[in-house]
Amino acid sequence: MPRPHPSSGFAPGLPAPPRLARGTTLPRRSCAAAVPAPLGTRSREALSDAMAPLGELLAGVRGVLLDISGVLYDSGAGGGTAIAGSVEAVARLKRSRLKVRFCTNESQKSRAELVGQLRRLGFDISEGEVTAPAPAACQILKERGLRPHLLIHDGVRSEFDQIDTSNPNCVVIADAGESFSYQNMNSAFQVLMELENPVLISLGKGRYYKETSGLMLDVGPYMKALEYACGIQAEVVGKPSPEFFKSALQAIGVEAHQAVMIGDDIVGDVGGAQRCGMRALQVRTGKFRPSDEHHPEVKADGYVDNLAEAVDLLLQHVDK
Ligand SMILES: [Mg+2]
Repeated sequence: MPRPHPSSGFAPGLPAPPRLARGTTLPRRSCAAAVPAPLGTRSREALSDAMAPLGELLAGVRGVLLDISGVLYDSGAGGGTAIAGSVEAVARLKRSRLKVRFCTNESQKSRAELVGQLRRLGFDISEGEVTAPAPAACQILKERGLRPHLLIHDGVRSEFDQIDTSNPNCVVIADAGESFSYQNMNSAFQVLMELENPVLISLGKGRYYKETSGLMLDVGPYMKALEYACGIQAEVVGKPSPEFFKSALQAIGVEAHQAVMIGDDIVGDVGGAQRCGMRALQVRTGKFRPSDEHHPEVKADGYVDNLAEAVDLLLQHVDK
């Protein structure tokens, strides 16, 4: 799909880095020569000038997929914390002409619990607006007559209420948190080893995510352990699986080339969305690390400080 490629998103006076055949990097606040005023204090004109190249890239966008953890909020004790500006940014987006869908790999909580938590933080979000891996996995289990051994967090167990788990013929692994004990991992391993054709379904394959207390291991390392022990390859339901992004786009009736993904995971969110033909922005919140902007394989179409900045850009340029 043809995309416009801005020549540079760097502020005047800054040497362009030796990369960015694809991505555009907005001026970073940590760069002394290019320190822009905080978003709220910059004039609309200054903001518009700084972001023009990236703004051009957003022309024609009709729909937005939003990652949740690390973009809307950081999970953690007491329900987590909203990321500054995100509540209002979601509200502005939903008031606009853009179609919005939340696309998450959250697998510790049911959608009902996740949405309840986000609503308590002030977000305008409902269960029907969320694409999450557990319901997608349930559909696959039913379609293929699979009866899973579940290695999951108790918080998401209700999503599997209608699933037959007797005499398991596959394993479903999700972000089980504290339930990733040796005993539970070994039980899943034993189920797989007894199957003639072992099937391992993983809800996402993230390496880590950020909670308010720090970075946390995600399901990916445990999925890899079972793959290694059993000599098999897991089927991933969730980002970066193309089917998962497509189902989120179908839900809002938007084609991939008309959509932009906004996420904090350079591989799962940005790389996955780009492989589907979407544009993708990485936010510098959540699990973002500065090294992500020099990732050897994935370049975002743009990097923004947070969701509020992404929404500013979108709302300035999508109708042009
Ligand atoms: Mg995230």
